[in-house]
Amino acid sequence: LLTIEGVWKDYHGHSVLRGIDLTVEAHEVVCLIGASGSGKSTLLRCVNLLETVDDGAIHLDGVEITDVRADADEVRKRVGMVFQSFNLFPHMTVLDNITLAPRRVHKVGRARAEEQARDLLARFGLADKAEAYPDRLSGGQQQRVAIIRALATQPRLMLLDEVTSALDPELVAEVLGVIRELKEGGMTMILTTHEMGFCREIADTVCFLDGGVLLERGTPEQIFTDPQEPRTREFLRNVI
Ligand code: ATP
Ligand code: MG
Repeated sequence: LLTIEGVWKDYHGHSVLRGIDLTVEAHEVVCLIGASGSGKSTLLRCVNLLETVDDGAIHLDGVEITDVRADADEVRKRVGMVFQSFNLFPHMTVLDNITLAPRRVHKVGRARAEEQARDLLARFGLADKAEAYPDRLSGGQQQRVAIIRALATQPRLMLLDEVTSALDPELVAEVLGVIRELKEGGMTMILTTHEMGFCREIADTVCFLDGGVLLERGTPEQIFTDPQEPRTREFLRNVI
């Protein structure tokens, strides 16, 4: 579904991604781990074309999205991204937040968009929050709405960057529950997290980034119980 080949990204002459190769199959859940500054967010941002790559190529469904002629809006219709800070529009209700992209970008009619939004809200236990404004919701509820908003465009791929980091511990579980349900529904995802327990549970493939290099990858079992690289071992010793 997604192929990342030899991707380099420089900021001011400093390379933060150094030749990343990664293939993601349909329905696969890939978890990126690594120290702060290792390039996890930058890699996700490259996939969503929020950053341009300096070398290499990214293909989505066989189409090169890093081609200069690629339409970034077209790509973002098919790639949903959720950030650590929920970024909901504060002056819009939950329902309007969710239906904005389907209506504006996908030209879905209001009635149809709202019906789909209400279905998603019900599925994730937020049916009674449709008319609420974001500031009336808990952090966990806001993040669930942000995930639903990304789902509303029916993306092929979801990118989730540290989506539980800004939440109080008691709210983390409800967001992790949503991600678990997405996996059960067969959604293809690339996520970053500092929660190793969750990574281990949800990931099909774990990738360890170190200084912009994808140093080691494997099943959670391989990475967490038998890491091959000293740097991976050191990282895991410090975070677990
Ligand atoms: P964290 O775990 O803290 O979220 P990360 O692995 O997501 O870290 P990135 O945010 O991808 O790391 O950052 C990788 C490197 O790129 C860091 O050294 C960072 O300072 C640098 N960087 C990121 N964005 C920019 C930018 N817009 N301009 C300059 N440097 C940047
Ligand atoms: Mg990051």
